[in-house]
Amino acid sequence: MIVRRRSNPIRIGKVTIGGDSPIVVQSMAKTDTRDIKATINQIHKLSGCGCELVRIAIPDFEAAQALSAIKKKTTIPIIADIHFDYRLALESLKAGADGLRLNPGNIRDREQVAEVVKAARQRQVPIRIGVNAGSLPSAPKPKVSTSEHMVAVALAQIELLESLDFDLIKVSLKAFDVLTSIESYRSIASKISYPLHLGITEAGLPAAGAVRSSVGLGILLYEGIGDTLRVSLSAHPCQEVYTAYEILKSLNLRQHGPVLISCPSCGRAEVDIVSLAESVDRKLKATNKPIKVAVMGCVVNGPGEAREADVGIACGKGKGAIFRKGKVVRTVTEDDFLGALLNEIKNIEGE
Ligand code: SF4
Repeated sequence: MIVRRRSNPIRIGKVTIGGDSPIVVQSMAKTDTRDIKATINQIHKLSGCGCELVRIAIPDFEAAQALSAIKKKTTIPIIADIHFDYRLALESLKAGADGLRLNPGNIRDREQVAEVVKAARQRQVPIRIGVNAGSLPSAPKPKVSTSEHMVAVALAQIELLESLDFDLIKVSLKAFDVLTSIESYRSIASKISYPLHLGITEAGLPAAGAVRSSVGLGILLYEGIGDTLRVSLSAHPCQEVYTAYEILKSLNLRQHGPVLISCPSCGRAEVDIVSLAESVDRKLKATNKPIKVAVMGCVVNGPGEAREADVGIACGKGKGAIFRKGKVVRTVTEDDFLGALLNEIKNIEGE
């Protein structure tokens, strides 16, 4: 069983992060924030696929001002991502940002940070201290490891915010290197009680990026570390959300939508199990119900897995047994495998 690290909860808009709250899934809009319509559309899509918090880039004043119009037409909390110019943070707060992400590597002036903190405190808006291995201040001497450097940078920024009487803090320590990320998060988790936002940064294209993220985030989550996460993929942001939920579902940390169990197929299969599983998967994407569906290719493991699922099929030569809640409800011919399975899924959804 996973025992989660206790963290002090904070609220970003209507979403609580940390404490006993479920681990929150977030993503980032990939539109030009100044294109208000496109950004609103993408946030709607993200909300529809289960994203609970969205970050948007604020590269200039026009983007910060666009936030106000974007907020009026969207419902999930929005975090403004600020680099270099503290005035963009002030403008984003005025425009209604629910959270700020500041990179301590590129806003270093204490007075500027103090101004942002003052405005955030007035509005009770949390700040994520988002440390990134690619944009660290110059390394201390004697040289330390990247993870030690990242942790030191985060701790210094936490100290600065605390000295300004601010504790609505969330921390992330992202690196592309999985081991560096794990070491950094483990280290900081034992030193602070603020909530942690997990991520493996710039993880890559969907296939490799999902594996890299699953390994890094999976190890940390298994150790009870992490209150919210983003999977960073070179893909549509809904793919990031989908992958994040798959990671959480695989550790039984969240339930979200269906789970598909499908066998890899082998020389024993008498049907094209891969295309059957793909067809079922496409249909399952349309449901949010947490149902478990098994698509199995033969009698070796098929009946066992199909029986454990809410709905399942164990295929044989030209025929297949449809299972529902552990019992065989029908035997169907090969041309009816998909139809019968989908029918049974529909019945379960309607219950
Ligand atoms: Fe092969 Fe049967 Fe296992 Fe599928 S369930 S991989 S067909 S042995």
